[in-house]
Amino acid sequence: MRALLINPWIYDFAAYDLWLKPFGLLRVGAFLRGLGWEVELIDCLDRFHPRLPEFSGGRYPRRDRFGCGKYFKTKITSPSSLENVDRQYFRYGLPLELFQDEIDEIERPDLILVGSTMTYWYPGYFVAIEMARNYFPDTPIILGGIYPRLCPEHARKFSGATAIHAGGGFTGLTEVMTELGFSLPSRLSTGDLIPAYDLLSNQTALAIRTGLGCPYSCSYCAASILEPGLISRKPEAVAGEIERYVRRDGTTDIAFYDNALLFNAKNHINRILSSLIARKVNCRFHTPNGLHARLLSKETSSLMKESGFIAPRLSLESSQEARQRQTGGKVENRDLIQALNYLEGAGFKRSEISVYLMFGLPGQTPEEVEKDIRFVHGLGTSITLAAYSPIPGTKDYLQLLREGVIEKDMDPLLQNNTIFCFRQKIFSSASIRDLRELVSKLNRELE
Ligand code: SF4
Repeated sequence: MRALLINPWIYDFAAYDLWLKPFGLLRVGAFLRGLGWEVELIDCLDRFHPRLPEFSGGRYPRRDRFGCGKYFKTKITSPSSLENVDRQYFRYGLPLELFQDEIDEIERPDLILVGSTMTYWYPGYFVAIEMARNYFPDTPIILGGIYPRLCPEHARKFSGATAIHAGGGFTGLTEVMTELGFSLPSRLSTGDLIPAYDLLSNQTALAIRTGLGCPYSCSYCAASILEPGLISRKPEAVAGEIERYVRRDGTTDIAFYDNALLFNAKNHINRILSSLIARKVNCRFHTPNGLHARLLSKETSSLMKESGFIAPRLSLESSQEARQRQTGGKVENRDLIQALNYLEGAGFKRSEISVYLMFGLPGQTPEEVEKDIRFVHGLGTSITLAAYSPIPGTKDYLQLLREGVIEKDMDPLLQNNTIFCFRQKIFSSASIRDLRELVSKLNRELE
């Protein structure tokens, strides 16, 4: 049997590849290979496609030294829900001609699986489904990932997929496949599935997860909805996987994309990092999701420094006590101060550490965010400002529904973090620009 995996485009006002890998889709690839299937991938977000320079002035889109970078992008017309937004909308990823050339080369698959992440990127998922359908009209297409999980009715109604995989992990996927007529073995091994990263055209920078889920339940976050509970992998298995990437595949940068990397650190991340140090694995490690400051210990900080972490990122989101409590109480200012002391004691410079702050949270004002910015800057670290987006099913989303800020059948495009904060009529373009400029100015002072 043959499966075609498609990692679709991003349709948005802005996008940047911060070690974004089709992690779930490539785990599905590994799962199908385990069943004896042949698996191919079209990665619409491939920044290393050998023919990309033909479309971008003879060169690849700009990359940074840690494996991140810009996507190739094409200007497109905004969908009607966004036509009042005064910003250019883009398709990020391979030009459509390259996608067509790729799919032309593919032998008719028995099944097509399209992945997804952000709910408001769905136009890219729909285009991938439509184009795949045109090429292989008789092949069933399953749409999986975060979007159908959070917006199942929307995905069922509008995506054009034959079926959607709206949850239940691999058990859910096998149920969908069985309904489509595939006969699968009754006992399936889906334990420690490592993504089929060999399908990517470039493996110098990868993402890894040492566990799935999060034991916390912050009001703005969907982690506990998408993956209830926390399933941690065995530390030695994680260290072995990283060692293979580095020694066998030439990987130089790995981003930990866990939701709760530091949970039970003594028996988990500390053991992973100790093992990497003992194995003399030479790699740079990154924490784009933001570390949980309260859970960061002196010992973990030292292990992070010794094993090769670069520019750690910590999560604060807000420095206001009331808001911290209201959003779930995962961190307080004193936790951040202590975490920064530990990291500094371990040898990280304060200026290389970045702290996430959010703006646009329900009820937040620009003045409040400015206080947050000045508080974090006063600690000597840089700031990464993240725009709030209402994620279906979260406590904040339900609150916004009750308050009438959003409607039950709101187009997911309007959840886009670039535009959502305007809906509450508290932030304006000018106030957001001022906050961003303030952050840039203060961050520059640290250089
Ligand atoms: S914000 Fe972080 S700690 Fe809170 S639920 Fe999400 S992943 Fe867990």
